[in-house]
Amino acid sequence: MNLTPSSKIVIVGGGVAGLATAWALARRGLGMITLVEREEGCFRVSSGQNAAILRHATDSPATRNLTRRTRDLLHAPPADLCHEPLVDERGLVVLEGNEQTPLPWWADELLADDSCQTLSPKELASKAPGFVGEGARAWWFPHSGTIDIARLGASLERSARATGVAFRLGTGVKRLKTDSSGAVTGVVLEDHANLSADLVVLAAGAWAGELGAAVNAEFPGRPTRRHLFVTQPETRLDPNQPVIWDDAAPFYYRPEAQGLLLCIGDQDDCPPSVASGADPLVLRAARRALARRLPQFEGLKFARAWAATRTMTEDDTPVVGADPRVAGLFWVAALGGHGMSLSLGLGDLAASMIAQDEVQDAQLVAALAPHAPRRDWIPQRDWVQS
Ligand SMILES: Cc1cc2nc3c(=O)[nH]c(=O)nc-3n(C[C@H](O)[C@H](O)[C@H](O)COP(=O)(O)OP(=O)(O)OC[C@H]3O[C@@H](n4cnc5c(N)ncnc54)[C@H](O)[C@@H]3O)c2cc1C
Repeated sequence: MNLTPSSKIVIVGGGVAGLATAWALARRGLGMITLVEREEGCFRVSSGQNAAILRHATDSPATRNLTRRTRDLLHAPPADLCHEPLVDERGLVVLEGNEQTPLPWWADELLADDSCQTLSPKELASKAPGFVGEGARAWWFPHSGTIDIARLGASLERSARATGVAFRLGTGVKRLKTDSSGAVTGVVLEDHANLSADLVVLAAGAWAGELGAAVNAEFPGRPTRRHLFVTQPETRLDPNQPVIWDDAAPFYYRPEAQGLLLCIGDQDDCPPSVASGADPLVLRAARRALARRLPQFEGLKFARAWAATRTMTEDDTPVVGADPRVAGLFWVAALGGHGMSLSLGLGDLAASMIAQDEVQDAQLVAALAPHAPRRDWIPQRDWVQS
């Protein structure tokens, strides 16, 4: 469909998917946009409850493409968004593999564009003092780090409001409205308000699938739960130390509030939900992992523990594009474990697809499409590093 500045667009969800899309659409002057968020404010669900790590070492080429675009935008945000970088310069160490396992899918590409360097055991020890990892190979990503997610959310909302986006906060979308042909024509809110729309953007995170299914749209994502833990403050910790992410363990940690934020890489299917308290079994496993991976901090108490939702696809690639069967519906969902790293690049691409820009990366657009074949990811390559 051809949208004009007077077309009505409703965006469902005020997480990073919805806000980044609203921001990118509004700065193009496209559409009269209303963003509906069930919570009293934006960035209250997964987008406000994550580890905030910028990482572009991912197996999915489409995710990698978008996270690299976002890396540049977060380091030098557009003036209408923010005048300071939205990510710090602490860097990221990724550990993975052993001498027998093939190199990761991302290695050639990211080495070639200077995104990363290999680290010797001595260099690793100086970046991750005392860390007992599993991965035998270590990679250094100097341009990765911690994203200021509070500022990212606030900047997106402020900029979107300044360019005319209307916000309906504290009331959810009860259902999508359709006409007799099944095309989406708007939304009905929980407060019974009716909003008509030429296009509805489903950016409802873990709830996107449910809302789409009710109008016969298929969504290849599934909500999963993951825990994060933050320890009490600890004076021996260097607040500037890089993020350490061991894919082989799996285990990652970084400084947070004078303590450590850590994750043991748990992933369980779950119903859509806002954050919950920690499962006692996972809590115990996290204590054991802390003692094993960072023995110098064994016994350090957790000050906070919570579980939040990541909506995953089989190929770890988000779902972005017009629904192939249901007219008037556009997906920006299933951001998996990469939503913050995808943020600005993803919003910009979604807006460009909605605007039907002539110049599009056809391969990227095809990989993100709701109906793209999403085969199980097979982590193997046909050659091993010599
Ligand atoms: C433990 C954990 C750690 C993570 N760590 C990282 C990380 O280090 N780096 C990274 O890049 N990513 C990370 N992620 C992933 C990232 O948090 C998500 O990919 C991202 O937040 C998803 O954004 P979203 O906008 O799709 O969903 P959400 O942020 O959940 O937003 C969806 C919004 O839609 C609203 N909504 C739902 N239904 C309705 C309705 N019917 N009407 C109105 N509103 C509705 C919800 O209230 C919610 O605000 C992590 C995730 C988790 C859980």
